[in-house]
Amino acid sequence: SPAARPRDTIAAVATAPGRGGIGVVRVSGGDLLPFARALCGREPQPRTALFARFRNEAGEAIDEGLLLYFPAPHSFTGEDVIELQGHGGPVVMGMLLGRCLELGARLAEPGEFTKRAFLNGKLDLAQAEGVADLIEASTAAAARSALRSLSGAFSAEVTQIRDALIDLRMLVEATLDFPEEELDFLEKADAFGRLAHLRARLEGLLDRARQGALLRSGLNVVLVGQPNVGKSSLLNQLVGEERAIVTEIAGTTRDALRETIQLEGIPLHVIDTAGLRETTDEVERIGIARTWREIERADVILRLVDAGAGADEGEAAGIDARLPQDVERITVHNKIDLYGERAWRVEEGGAVGVYLSARSGEGVDLLRAELLRVAGWHAHGEDLVLARERHLQALRTALEHVGNAAGEVGALELFAEELRLAQESIGEITGEFSSDDLLGVIFSRFCIGK
Ligand code: GDP
Ligand code: ZN
Repeated sequence: SPAARPRDTIAAVATAPGRGGIGVVRVSGGDLLPFARALCGREPQPRTALFARFRNEAGEAIDEGLLLYFPAPHSFTGEDVIELQGHGGPVVMGMLLGRCLELGARLAEPGEFTKRAFLNGKLDLAQAEGVADLIEASTAAAARSALRSLSGAFSAEVTQIRDALIDLRMLVEATLDFPEEELDFLEKADAFGRLAHLRARLEGLLDRARQGALLRSGLNVVLVGQPNVGKSSLLNQLVGEERAIVTEIAGTTRDALRETIQLEGIPLHVIDTAGLRETTDEVERIGIARTWREIERADVILRLVDAGAGADEGEAAGIDARLPQDVERITVHNKIDLYGERAWRVEEGGAVGVYLSARSGEGVDLLRAELLRVAGWHAHGEDLVLARERHLQALRTALEHVGNAAGEVGALELFAEELRLAQESIGEITGEFSSDDLLGVIFSRFCIGK
């Protein structure tokens, strides 16, 4: 339950920086009716758009637009909320925000509106994370999954598992008082069947969460090969018709060495090592150093060779030697069209090879399938959970404790204790058990005004 209910008034520009048709300033706090009156000289009705002039202290108009008033508790934060829709220019927005500060609001911290929503019980932690994930989603599939989290579908599943854990735990703890018949009693109540069922449900959820995590963070792919072996052509083939959907997060600098494409909605961050050349340009050197750090986190290395020439040498081999050795590798034998070779998949010395033509596209589907295999992708349903690492960790820990419990049926105190630990891990996902540190980490990564 909420430790503190902050009542001071916060304000921020909620729309993206820059010019736009409209811009929104959002205010949340205690009693905001006097605030609205001072701002526009009129009385807003709850949840009704009021067209008004927004005025400064001297009574001069700053802008005109819509004022929306959501009285507590029926608002996003659970407090009184006012939204001012004005003209979306940075100067106008700055003046409107300044007026709100004059009226006693302070600047909101990143994610503070959503944090208040969480503290006031409007959202649980997984839903709050869904808000940020929806805003940051880089593919349509990721956005759909984030919306599922936001709307509480993930939380509902987590809560069902938690409730089943509590039921079982209560049953086991009740029998502790009757040591004579305990095992008998538990067997009659199907305690062990229920434990197995719980385990299966946790495994199912973890699996879908793992798939969802892929949608969220994607796969790091490194392309290696000599000049002219067909790296750019292959990239274009992999992108296919999906290119139009790929987006860049606004404000991040574009990295020339790295391109994000998508495969069945999974972002593939592709680094073309052709850009990793010796250079004296300082800026380029910094980019290259950063690229090498990304390469250390590679999930798969695509090694391109000419299908007629076999393994190549030279510069590409030099780069090859510096690549992490324990990462999955796929050798792509390109340009089969030149050699009358057919498209096929081969296993050669533990690694997989794919023969294809980046020019005609023949065999590229084999490579796509191979990439998805490496990623561990298999689900295609709509019920994926856009999980974060912290969710995966909590599910893994819960599963571990449920597994331990199964091994402790002879010592019921330990059995019950493992169930309690599993329940606690599961509860971390929705924020039932959460520390201030964790909240700080989660909300500080939000944007301002959210
Ligand atoms: P990169 O330097 O490795 O990026 O190679 P490019 O993709 O720029 O390709 C170099 C040349 O090889 C271009 O003229 C491509 O059209 C050609 N090429 C690439 N893939 C194939 C292929 O599968 N078959 C044939 N015949 N030519 C290809
Ligand atoms: Zn980028």
